[in-house]
Amino acid sequence: MNFDLTSEQQAIAKLCREFAEGEIAPHAAEWDARAEFPLATIRKMGELGLLGLPFPEKYGGAGADTVSYALAVMEIGRADASVGITMAAHVSLGSQPFFQFGTEEQKQRFLVPAARGEQLWAFGLTEPQAGSDAGATRTTAILRDGRWIINGSKCFITNAGTPMTGGVTITAVTGRSSDGKAEISNIIVPQDTPGYRRSEPYKKMGWRASDTRELSFDGAEVPEENLLGRRGKGFRQFLEILDGGRISVGALSVGLAQACYDAASRYAKERYQFGHPIASFQAVQFQLVDMAVEIELARTAVLKAAWLKDQGRDFATAAAMAKLFSGEVSRRAANAAVQIHGGYGFMDEYPVSRYWRDCKINEIGEGTNEIQRMVIARQLGLTGEHGS
Ligand SMILES: Cc1cc2nc3c(=O)[nH]c(=O)nc-3n(C[C@H](O)[C@H](O)[C@H](O)COP(=O)(O)OP(=O)(O)OC[C@H]3O[C@@H](n4cnc5c(N)ncnc54)[C@H](O)[C@@H]3O)c2cc1C
Repeated sequence: MNFDLTSEQQAIAKLCREFAEGEIAPHAAEWDARAEFPLATIRKMGELGLLGLPFPEKYGGAGADTVSYALAVMEIGRADASVGITMAAHVSLGSQPFFQFGTEEQKQRFLVPAARGEQLWAFGLTEPQAGSDAGATRTTAILRDGRWIINGSKCFITNAGTPMTGGVTITAVTGRSSDGKAEISNIIVPQDTPGYRRSEPYKKMGWRASDTRELSFDGAEVPEENLLGRRGKGFRQFLEILDGGRISVGALSVGLAQACYDAASRYAKERYQFGHPIASFQAVQFQLVDMAVEIELARTAVLKAAWLKDQGRDFATAAAMAKLFSGEVSRRAANAAVQIHGGYGFMDEYPVSRYWRDCKINEIGEGTNEIQRMVIARQLGLTGEHGS
């Protein structure tokens, strides 16, 4: 077993760390306070190839592997979780469906500008009545005279309304089988589609500099060829996309947990009480040690899932485990980081206050902790007589 990163993986991690430290971290607090989407910075990331890292060069990508991509998300997420999720949602959720299920023409038309970072793309699964039960989609797309007529709504969709958004790929009910079961398909909806509207951005607890909106489709029309993948396979396709997405949310969680550790260990060495730096007190050391141990394990779990994907092996269980564990680690790390800062940790001028707000979504987005446990239980064959 070889845990060494290749020189290319190291180079990508280094590039991302330098970019994150120089161009993201110094502005993260301000973007968060203003809930400002950092358009110029995201465009720069596109120019650097970071928005198309794992896609082949012939489709405008950088041709990197999933391990490199996971390392990149860790580094960006360490500086700013909002920028991290913007990148992760665009690559793993917005662009990956084109790569995995698109025709050659769709790849040229949608993946190439996405991978080059000229456009951001979104992934629209969640609806007001269909969250964890994502198959309960109510949005419909009816094929009439060679066009899909879409009606319905989506909620909590990342990257849907930025000035550089190209559009969204959604799940929609495109028919019913004889037993009344919904036939779900994926439809690509470009941003300028008549009848497709985005709400104002949500006001959020964390990830405040990322773009999250509600979408509505009121007779929105797209051509028949905007069907992505096979008709009726849309739900299955989105589940496969979520498997890969879990690697990137796991990476984001590791990045945030690392930022918590960095801030807490720095502070513990500088802060004096009772005549000593608080880092000399065993109770504080143990909190930092527990953070370091958990971060190391979470990082290893995420990179293992990424490596399995790169080998073309089954990675679904490893990705769900990595996402679940890393999300919980990020929450515990943020909690400990605020604790170690004492009252100062409660003040917005210290970054740990933002980390605390940013960590919670890691246990909710792309499948809540409960849903991850259900997915893992199923993969472990733990279905009893009542199923599920
Ligand atoms: C900032 C943000 C960005 C997001 N970005 C996107 C995006 O880009 N695209 C997209 O499609 N979605 C996105 N989402 C949606 C996200 O994936 C959902 O919020 C998440 O899957 C949970 O769905 P829900 O919010 O409806 O919660 P619910 O499904 O209503 O769950 C509520 C609670 O019930 C629990 N629960 C539900 N069912 C079960 C069960 N069977 N057993 C045990 N417990 C259960 C859940 O674990 C949770 O604790 C985003 C959400 C947020 C907040």
